[in-house]
Amino acid sequence: MLTRREFLYQTTGTLAAIAGASTALAQKSGTQVFYDRSVLLHQPPADHPESPQRINAVLTKVRQLEQQGRLSVITPHAATEEEILLVHSTDYIKKVRAEIAAGRQTLSTGDTELSRDSLTAALAAAGTVVSAVDAVMTGRTPTAFCAVRPPGHHASANRGMGFCIFNNIAIGARHAAKRHRVNRVLIADWDVHHGNGTQEVFWSDGSVLFFDVHQHPWYPGTGSPAEQGDGKARGLIVNNPFPAGSGRAQILKAFRERLVPAAASFKPELVLISAGFDSRAGDPLGQFTLTDQDFVELTDLLLVIAREHAGGRLVSVLEGGYAIDGLASAVSAHIGRLAG
Ligand SMILES: [Zn+2]
Repeated sequence: MLTRREFLYQTTGTLAAIAGASTALAQKSGTQVFYDRSVLLHQPPADHPESPQRINAVLTKVRQLEQQGRLSVITPHAATEEEILLVHSTDYIKKVRAEIAAGRQTLSTGDTELSRDSLTAALAAAGTVVSAVDAVMTGRTPTAFCAVRPPGHHASANRGMGFCIFNNIAIGARHAAKRHRVNRVLIADWDVHHGNGTQEVFWSDGSVLFFDVHQHPWYPGTGSPAEQGDGKARGLIVNNPFPAGSGRAQILKAFRERLVPAAASFKPELVLISAGFDSRAGDPLGQFTLTDQDFVELTDLLLVIAREHAGGRLVSVLEGGYAIDGLASAVSAHIGRLAG
């Protein structure tokens, strides 16, 4: 009996003759990790929790899995202004450019630190999700993980806040609709903070089911169950606030008992995850108690939803996660599961 890795190595020669070695290996892998080193260029002050070290720690784990032949790492393209405009206003993009050019330390719209190359990093992060959506929608890989920062889910059309500049996952969802004619996208957000930006972007959209578990009361204060969307999107915003100290019992239950039936009725054609790991036990910016095993089970649940309704297409996007070792460990558990 061959292990998966041995099988991959033994079949590489034959497959390489047909399609090229790297392509063949990628097609055999269950997941691809999308990473653009430009995301390291966003540099808040040294004591800030949202640091480049987060991505370095994640990448160490990613490279280990890559060496085991379990995934491939893909270099994405940076987002174009047209792609950013799928979610954000021209005025907001101008404001971001102007404030960075003026040397401002923080974005005037909210608590997001800026550095000289923050725009380059933010465009790289958004483009990473666009590239991953393209790969999944064209069948180059069934699933993808985007190793990005700054995070995105607090950013709305006209406002960055909460360490976020552009809403990476919202741009990915809109790109899927525009480029690949995807009519229904599920965004599941397990970051400890409410994804207020994503909620706002899709508040009356109708093409996105937004399911969010978050600590409450906690930053940014939104995410009441009464916030359910409007117009075509009425009922497509599903908020699940839980008090500090909540974990597996509450969160897995919410995913099983509320998301699974909501997805069955919505029938998403693409599954996106706002994968924030500040909901893991020990994070300095949250008080949930999820473990790596819980993230494995949440990943499995989303994979089942993707396979049942969306042809297996799933893109996971890094959001928060500020305990460096805990983040790396949780991401490793998560993408290890995506790799199969
Ligand atoms: Zn967060």
